[in-house]
Amino acid sequence: MAKKISIVVSVYNEEEGLKQFYEHTHPILQQATAKAGWDYELIFVNDGSLDNSLDLLRGFAAKDPKVVVVNFAANRGHEAAMIAGIDVATGDGIVCMDADLQHPPEVIPDIIAKFDEGYDVVSMVRTAREDAGLFKKITSAAFYKVMNHMSKANFENNSSDFFGLSRRVALVLRKDYRERVRFLRGYVQNVGFKKTTLEFKASARVAGQSNYNLKALVKLSLNAICNFSDAPLKMGIYAGLMSLAFSFILIVYSIVQFFLGNAPSGYSTIVVLISFMFGVLFIILGFISEYLAIIFAEVKNRPIYIIDSIITKDGEERQ
Ligand code: UDP
Ligand code: MG
Repeated sequence: MAKKISIVVSVYNEEEGLKQFYEHTHPILQQATAKAGWDYELIFVNDGSLDNSLDLLRGFAAKDPKVVVVNFAANRGHEAAMIAGIDVATGDGIVCMDADLQHPPEVIPDIIAKFDEGYDVVSMVRTAREDAGLFKKITSAAFYKVMNHMSKANFENNSSDFFGLSRRVALVLRKDYRERVRFLRGYVQNVGFKKTTLEFKASARVAGQSNYNLKALVKLSLNAICNFSDAPLKMGIYAGLMSLAFSFILIVYSIVQFFLGNAPSGYSTIVVLISFMFGVLFIILGFISEYLAIIFAEVKNRPIYIIDSIITKDGEERQ
């Protein structure tokens, strides 16, 4: 039997570009799979879109038997949508991509070729981003530097939520990576197996706007750090040691000043010390709270996503 590739596309309020995405992608998929002797399925995960996206997706499914629409009961975020797609995918290889054509479907034949060569993880690395400003580029580079420094895991610089996985990797993700607070592309890059990278050029969005604002990016980065590293938790020990050393120097200094007959200046020393120490203390407390919040979220064990219905050409199956 022919191997099958599952394309997982997360969709949140993409009505403006969705038709263009489908019309651009499905002929490429048809040609690529016909050439490689593979079969395919195109899974759209509608992440609680508030616009007309679901109706458009229904339209694709009604006339195309290759289309599967997983319709969420509510918005759960991009990562939850990718996880749901990976969960329902039946392919031997799975590719996650955005619905805004920032991840060019033109590279799918190369990904299929990598699967054929026996690779389990195909990490797609951006060589250029047309939409990102200098600020986004610098912060993103800094983020990967910090992450690699703080964690034993390895993170590809400029990696994206565009990647290919074999069925084996998907099984691992389905079974063992069910965390509520997570960093999916970090897992994909660190499960091991036979891994390769392909480069792609991220173009500008075809339509609509990015759903990731600065706040969402900060949250994603903080989650990633706390998920892959316990270094911030251990910060307290170092901060404590440093302040001990610092206060020791101050004590010696004060004693020397006393014997020299100078009255030590109290006020400014105290103000500086107190504000410094409280700064350190609250940062550490903030990090501890961050981990506590993660533990809280995991302990509650709520579902990562809730499916309302699954729509194919055969009809709509309510869950
Ligand atoms: N997305 C989603 N749920 C969300 C936000 C975004 O499924 O809550 C989808 C969105 O439709 C797109 C992909 O995730 O296909 C990436 O989002 P976006 O293009 O806004 O992010 P950017 O490419 O700017 O990082
Ligand atoms: Mg995008």
